[in-house]
Amino acid sequence: MKNNILIIGGGPAGLEASAQLQRMGYNVILIEKSPKLGGHLAKWDRLFPDSVPADEVLGGLLRGTEGVKCFTDTDVRAINRLDKSYNVRLTNGITVLSDAVLVASGFDLFDAVKKEEYGYGIYDQVMTNADLEAYFKTGSDRRIENPGKIGFAHCVGSRDEKAGCRSCSKVCCATAVKQAIEMKQAFPKAEVYCFYMDLRLFGRHYEDIYLKAQKEYGVRFIRGRVAEVSENYDGTLLVKAEDTVAGKPLKVTLDLLVLMAGMRPSAAGKVIGDLLEMPAEEDGYFAVRSGIAAGQRSPIPGIFLAGAATGPKTLPETLADARAAAMEVDRYLTEIFPDAKNYKQLVKERW
Ligand code: SF4
Repeated sequence: MKNNILIIGGGPAGLEASAQLQRMGYNVILIEKSPKLGGHLAKWDRLFPDSVPADEVLGGLLRGTEGVKCFTDTDVRAINRLDKSYNVRLTNGITVLSDAVLVASGFDLFDAVKKEEYGYGIYDQVMTNADLEAYFKTGSDRRIENPGKIGFAHCVGSRDEKAGCRSCSKVCCATAVKQAIEMKQAFPKAEVYCFYMDLRLFGRHYEDIYLKAQKEYGVRFIRGRVAEVSENYDGTLLVKAEDTVAGKPLKVTLDLLVLMAGMRPSAAGKVIGDLLEMPAEEDGYFAVRSGIAAGQRSPIPGIFLAGAATGPKTLPETLADARAAAMEVDRYLTEIFPDAKNYKQLVKERW
């Protein structure tokens, strides 16, 4: 066994980095604040673009971490920098002496209640992308009862100065197209509309799925942001938008509106960042030492970052980032502990 590495966050980035570092021979300790590993992936049903079940992907990630010391329901209580390592006190009473710390704190979904004009939490027929995914996973939601007209509102809480987030969340255009197709499969007679500002579908085969949504499933894409939602006397929704292609305001009556809530920096991650005095960018995501050359190193020696802790990422990007972070950790530890005899001795003393 080599050095000890603490990984904070048991979502896809934390799981993948744990598996890689364990394979390299490190002693990996993974902590997750919630009772279950998997992060948002554990709540998702199927993934874009090939509809692979999220459970299958998560199962593979979990299998990779066999042998890693995992503590769920566990957070960081205190962290102190020593000479070349960190003394980390966990909320489960254990203290870890770690030679490197990898923060994989992920993201939070934007709280759609904050966009009051969209009526989430006010009108029953307004739900979020996460709610709809839970419906696909469980097969039940009282809000979904053979809807005749379904709308998807893109960019909810993203690319929106008023909502405090200028950046794009990267995954919600793809999720909207995937969910629009899935709703057409479940309710073939339904009319499905996507209200978008511009479609950001940059991954391989993503464009094909968008064309398929139009040609095979008849999903209608309307270029325009939803401005306001209200309820008609019969309980349906009246959605006002601006059709920016036709240059006209638009009113559509819907039975169900799905809000594509975007990504936000993790609130739990911010607590870790404050303990470490780790710098964040203006938008709240953690700053890296260099966006091109060292995208997984924080400006603090021995502290590394992976996944959505540094900004919105797709799942494939998150996994690739986690692997890169594992390599950066390995490179760092090789630099500061060049003498294998020394660190074997150190590990012996510490465990
Ligand atoms: S991915 Fe699409 S829906 Fe999401 S914020 Fe970017 S443009 Fe908007």
